[in-house]
Amino acid sequence: MAFIPPDSRKPIFRFAPSPNGRLHLGHALSALANESLAERMGGRLLLRIEDIDLTRSRPEFVAGIVADLDWLGIPFEPDIRRQSEHFNDYAAALGALQERGLVYPCFCSRQDIRAEVAQREVETGRPWPVDPDGAPPYPGHCRTLEPDEATRRITAGEPHVLRLDMAKALAITGNELSYTVFDGEGGIRIVSARPERWGDVVLARKDVPTSYHLAVVVDDALQDVTHVVRGHDLEAATDIHVVLQHLLGLPTPLYHFHRLVLDEDGRKLAKSRLSESLAELRAKGARPADIRRQLGFA
Ligand code: GLU
Ligand code: ZN
Repeated sequence: MAFIPPDSRKPIFRFAPSPNGRLHLGHALSALANESLAERMGGRLLLRIEDIDLTRSRPEFVAGIVADLDWLGIPFEPDIRRQSEHFNDYAAALGALQERGLVYPCFCSRQDIRAEVAQREVETGRPWPVDPDGAPPYPGHCRTLEPDEATRRITAGEPHVLRLDMAKALAITGNELSYTVFDGEGGIRIVSARPERWGDVVLARKDVPTSYHLAVVVDDALQDVTHVVRGHDLEAATDIHVVLQHLLGLPTPLYHFHRLVLDEDGRKLAKSRLSESLAELRAKGARPADIRRQLGFA
């Protein structure tokens, strides 16, 4: 029997905020849900800073995240992974997909996409679908560009994104993709993924050589994450992550989606009392125990 060091069997959880601002109660709930499930399951707890967006990420927000989590008393392991230091890992994954002809450059602006969608609606007499985020799946103009033209436009410096050819991807992975949701009390359920509803998602942005979807999948694998705990707002995107995991030969972790903190009107946190940052709440005298109690983690 192979020797398995005892630690390697521990489940690994991660909290992965983007340093675009200070943490608010929604982040606290996510961090506390990770803490509580990791504790219950004897797991390790990692912190990952999702700072691929170099224009929005700021070092003081990273420091703020660490300070806020310390204040809340959440015991993250000291080794913090910062995505901005690992663009080469995402480039390698992207390269592997490109080599298999699964990626194409797209030069369309939002306006171009809107116009193409409108044209398709006229042609078919039917409304164009919307993806789970409420945006139209990419209608496909650049999927069929001649390679010469694409190369010429890239060489000329025309801004472009890189998209996954979802139909080609699903022809490889098959349509029967699924993932497992765990409830933290021993219960699991298998969920069918429906990535086709997203269409040709962006794998590298105009200004950034990767995307959230690609980076999160690569990092969850490189950090050996076994249990992903995140908000319901990212549930549908898991379909995309499962496709990428299959294409890249990476394991699919178990998933748990926690509730979101809603404001007084039942919307996701916006500018309201509840969207106050943890730092502001703290300055007003809130204690970690108050935050924990308020979020149901007393
Ligand atoms: N960075 C993402 C966010 O702050 C979360 C990523 C994830 O948990 O998969 O919304
Ligand atoms: Zn395009």
